[in-house]
Amino acid sequence: MIILGAPGAGKGTQAKVLCEKLGIPQISTGAIFRANISEGTDLGKLAQGYIDRGEFVPDEITDSLVKDRLHQEDTQDGFLLDGYPRTLAQVGALDEILLEQGHTLDIVIELVTEREALVERLLKRAEIEGRADDTEDVIRRRMEVYLEQTKPLSRVYEQRGILVEIDGLGTIEEVQERIREAIQGR
Ligand code: ADP
Repeated sequence: MIILGAPGAGKGTQAKVLCEKLGIPQISTGAIFRANISEGTDLGKLAQGYIDRGEFVPDEITDSLVKDRLHQEDTQDGFLLDGYPRTLAQVGALDEILLEQGHTLDIVIELVTEREALVERLLKRAEIEGRADDTEDVIRRRMEVYLEQTKPLSRVYEQRGILVEIDGLGTIEEVQERIREAIQGR
């Protein structure tokens, strides 16, 4: 599965709860990058500048990270990608990775949320978590990049018939319940 949504839509939060329920790994490219940055790895050093500016890390780097991650055994019985793919090129790269590894995509969940609510949530998160890319300028840039590059992905998956749109407004439990209902039939 994939979970899509704007920055601040609640992807990470919902992904975590859903993965715990289903017993599958949550693969968050943003979290993997942040872990590498705090550990000071080469990958972290490569990614940091892009992330601090609110830009995407180049596709070659992100694609190969996901490819390696999906090679690990815990993905055999399913997984949820959170924060990947984020560009049309990444959609193509993912298709190849999945084909090679014998996986298929079943469901793409899109969390739909109003823009105003998003910026507010991100600014609140900045206070709580202190993430370096949660300053107002960088948030605005991430929003622009999302609309330009990531939003078009939902149409691709809609045409494949695997997109489910979920209203992202409400409590964590309410949204989780909507997700669970929507994927139950599949
Ligand atoms: P959010 O969804 O709130 O923007 P993430 O934790 O998913 O936060 O991502 C943080 C940052 O990590 C992104 O702004 C981007 O710089 C980088 N990143 C994460 N996933 C990708 C990806 N698939 N492709 C390129 N860059 C990525």
